[in-house]
Amino acid sequence: MDEHKKKAVKLMFEKTAAALSKNGFKADISNDKKEAAGKIISLIGEGKKVGMGGSITMAELGLPEMISAKNTLYVHKPSMTQDERRKTWLSCMDSDFYLASPQAVTMDGKLVFIDGTGNRCAALTWGPRHIILAAGFNKIVSSLDEARIRMREKAAIPNNIRLGKKNPCVLTGKCEDCSSPERICNIVTEIWKKPKITEYSVFLINEELGY
Ligand code: SF4
Repeated sequence: MDEHKKKAVKLMFEKTAAALSKNGFKADISNDKKEAAGKIISLIGEGKKVGMGGSITMAELGLPEMISAKNTLYVHKPSMTQDERRKTWLSCMDSDFYLASPQAVTMDGKLVFIDGTGNRCAALTWGPRHIILAAGFNKIVSSLDEARIRMREKAAIPNNIRLGKKNPCVLTGKCEDCSSPERICNIVTEIWKKPKITEYSVFLINEELGY
């Protein structure tokens, strides 16, 4: 990225981080994936129970491998039966740390997520003791209205393609607000302020990451 764009993102991050802090979340800014991954690994430490939602951003940071080397990691896999997934998601609810990436972070410090099943939205609101979120600059939006558009038009469509879903957006390239049985846009969670008994750490990273 050229230096001017980097500077613009830095200014946007500083405004967003200040707003997140005002809303009770811990906020951190990293220059790149490596720096952010190092901070997250050091925050988690060793010997912890760590849950994770399906997250391209976390995979791009290399965190599943790094975390599972010294901790117990709960994350569902495509090969799991529905019963195995349910057990994994219930283990996530009682984890020391839960890692995910929001579909959008608003510049006034709100966090927005969309799910098909709702396991991730559930864990983000209550259960795990400490939530760790990572977001690249592509996730920053100016308002909740923009976030609601972004999560379907920008995030859900490539995610549908990645997951091999037969939803209409994979053919048209735009959200058709479908009624498909495979629809992945069923539950939206907007976290406006830090939930009372859950710690929240949000890592903003000056790279394009995830969807
Ligand atoms: S078409 Fe359906 S699955 Fe695709 S983005 Fe819209 S609501 Fe989500």
